[in-house]
Amino acid sequence: PEATAAEATAGATGATGSAGEVPMVVAQRVRKRFGQLEVLRGIDLKVRQGEVVVLLGPSGSGKSTFLRCINHLEQIDAGSIHVEGRLIGFRRSGGRVHHLRPREVTRQRRDIGMVFQHFNLFPHQTVLENVVEAPVGVLGLSKAEARKTAMELLTRVGLAEKAASYPRQLSGGQQQRVAIARALAMRPKLMLFDEPTSALDPELVGEVLATMRDLARDGLTMLVVTHEIGFAKEVADRVVFMDGGQVLETGTPQEVLDSPANPRTRAFLSRFL
Ligand code: ADP
Ligand code: MG
Repeated sequence: PEATAAEATAGATGATGSAGEVPMVVAQRVRKRFGQLEVLRGIDLKVRQGEVVVLLGPSGSGKSTFLRCINHLEQIDAGSIHVEGRLIGFRRSGGRVHHLRPREVTRQRRDIGMVFQHFNLFPHQTVLENVVEAPVGVLGLSKAEARKTAMELLTRVGLAEKAASYPRQLSGGQQQRVAIARALAMRPKLMLFDEPTSALDPELVGEVLATMRDLARDGLTMLVVTHEIGFAKEVADRVVFMDGGQVLETGTPQEVLDSPANPRTRAFLSRFL
């Protein structure tokens, strides 16, 4: 359970993992501060290709900030994050490290989908238009091609019949499934979920988790912040517990959830009993 730092170091410069493949995410000693507040205090974490990792931890422990760093929404102060072997936010040349230009950042972000607690669909666009927008605008797909893919994705999340509806005509759970379809339309290699069910009425949580479970079964690489312990037990390959800007425990769901080694993990989990 404590092996992450060493594992991450082994994957350092995008080197190969144990299966001979480049890991999807390798974070090493990542630090981030907001003014005086150090929010990430040396995060080491690795996500392999096809792996589902659930990130747990109390409010304020830095989970969202960490996801935002992977997706270029925040810049880290120290350490490094590699996605598929590429350094995020920076470029190496001649032994020196340079910040990426906006265009390069956009290109890196394309491979990463993110789903937030609040779905942020465009209210004046139909469900279909919401899903079609980025593939046409960013990937340069033809409208026809993007529509075809969008309908396939809406079918996959069980909402094909809502294609012509507007977000306000949908339940929260349906809106979140549209948000997932919209993220998938960019053909991401990695999906980041930040408490995707926290804003939903309890009876709507299950349908969103079921959609996420399907994606996991299809082999999508996912890093999921959630307090849904049942989902973590069933779907996660690995569970990571964070507190105070550090990873305190990593292991299989059984290891971390059923017999946590760290007292803070135990205290956190006792709230869910
Ligand atoms: P979590 O997602 O685990 O609840 P966050 O990453 O959202 O934690 O926040 C970690 C800490 O960083 C909190 O104390 C939060 O108030 C602070 N924080 C997050 N974003 C900012 C920001 N943009 N400016 C200042 N402080 C921030
Ligand atoms: Mg958060």
